[in-house]
Amino acid sequence: MDTKICDITKWNKETLAVLDEAGAILRDGGLVAFPTETVYGLGANALNAEAVSSIYTAKGRPSDNPLIVHISDIAQCEMLALTWPESADKLAAAFWPGPLTIVLPKKEGVPTVTTGGLSTVAIRMPDHRAALELIKKAGCPIAAPSANLSGKPSPTKGAHVIADMSGRIPMILVGDDCKVGIESTVLDLTDETPLILRPGILTPEAIAEVLGTPVSFDPALYSGKEWNEDPSTEASANDEILEKEKKCPAPKAPGMKYKHYAPKAEMIVLKGSADAVQQALKKLKEEREATGQKVGILFFLAGDFAQAAHDFFAKLRAFDEDGVDLILAVAMDEADSMGFAIMNRMLKSASYKVMQIK
Ligand code: AMP
Ligand code: MG
Repeated sequence: MDTKICDITKWNKETLAVLDEAGAILRDGGLVAFPTETVYGLGANALNAEAVSSIYTAKGRPSDNPLIVHISDIAQCEMLALTWPESADKLAAAFWPGPLTIVLPKKEGVPTVTTGGLSTVAIRMPDHRAALELIKKAGCPIAAPSANLSGKPSPTKGAHVIADMSGRIPMILVGDDCKVGIESTVLDLTDETPLILRPGILTPEAIAEVLGTPVSFDPALYSGKEWNEDPSTEASANDEILEKEKKCPAPKAPGMKYKHYAPKAEMIVLKGSADAVQQALKKLKEEREATGQKVGILFFLAGDFAQAAHDFFAKLRAFDEDGVDLILAVAMDEADSMGFAIMNRMLKSASYKVMQIK
């Protein structure tokens, strides 16, 4: 399939014409990749089961991994969600458009293929002018997972989408690099206590402040954390970790259980005090380089979580492009909610291969 690649970085007549064309493709059941403020999305008409099925094919995504439905107007929630609690109203007013996805019981008209077979639907209004205009022009809610091949790091630059999706979809819209860089916070509002199913840049503290009630993380998100408390100085073997994973509670967001964000390179996360980690890094790097391997170091300024989120996926992809064999990643502070969101991605990218430095 020929893929039309269109630059929409400027807001002018040409871009609006491209968005018109992209909207028509979506309306007709086709796929369009487009930028949002979090990561690039791969969109289809959320109410057209056949169109949505083709997302799974293009991405190679397992069909029980539900998609987020993107809207441009809160009124569209009416055709998607069976209930609209007061909490959803408050959160939408405070955080939409923005990196918050709300999970609610779904209306019958939402195809089960869109929700991965679940009776709930995940909804978000992206904070991106072109994305909002595209949804408006399409005239329907747009189901859009990240526009990467399943398992690969999420795309935060047009070039990432082109690398993964060329030849697989009819159109790719290339905008500026994604502002946030990691995916939205997914919040389940189907139970009494709001539950974060996927951590993001929008923290439980910020959500709790708006709701006036406590917000917790899905216990399944801590599974990796428990494993890391193993004070081993060796990187844990994957088999051992997968064994532990079996004993962890199943995540409520089905997508969280899949192999995710994986670079081609082997990746190890180093945790411990700054000095100890630095020494261990140096030693490991020298050891591996002595065997002829190319080693990359993934390091972010301590405490600068917004920058780390912005750069995270792009750095993983850059290491792969440079032919790096091993990525040594310095852990960030998981006690901070934004740090926790970044660590969620970092640990998955490394298939939970962690070296705890004493
Ligand atoms: P992605 O589209 O790649 O950003 O992934 C979407 C994430 O949202 C995955 O982790 C899904 O499992 C999660 N998600 C989407 N819809 C639902 C839902 N109805 N219930 C729970 N999690 C959902
Ligand atoms: Mg994804």
